[in-house]
Amino acid sequence: MIGILPDFMKLNMRHDLEGFLWRHVMAYIPHTSKCGATGCGYDSFTASAINPACLECNGRGLVYNWHQVSLHVRPNWIDPAHNNVFAGVITADIGDAQFQAKIRDKALWEKIRDTEHAYVLMDGKKLHPESIADNSVEGLTTIDIRCHIISEAKP
Ligand SMILES: [Zn+2]
Repeated sequence: MIGILPDFMKLNMRHDLEGFLWRHVMAYIPHTSKCGATGCGYDSFTASAINPACLECNGRGLVYNWHQVSLHVRPNWIDPAHNNVFAGVITADIGDAQFQAKIRDKALWEKIRDTEHAYVLMDGKKLHPESIADNSVEGLTTIDIRCHIISEAKP
């Protein structure tokens, strides 16, 4: 993709990679454990709580603990209402987002992608990564992440 861009655009991208459009977003990764309330627990046969009236787990049998992590990304909304840095260069559905992220965070992004209910919160929207691909630009390797919106969230 980069090879077809005029030189001035390569320079802009290089500049972007070095910093000023990067920002932090919070990722939330659930870790579930079996409900430990007295008389409750997880029934794997029914996939619900042993005590359906349990207030601790709301009858799910599982308790969610959310692991929060801050990630450094360069976001690009595929949405006319947001600033579309690569307008005309990438193809994606309206409402999706693409992140450029640090290669050092790749394993973390893969964990978010592979964990059910895990999401990234950005601009009041919950996003889940669909695909992760390496991206090398002039010796700098980053990863490109395609996300879809799960829901609007209240910050
Ligand atoms: Zn319970």
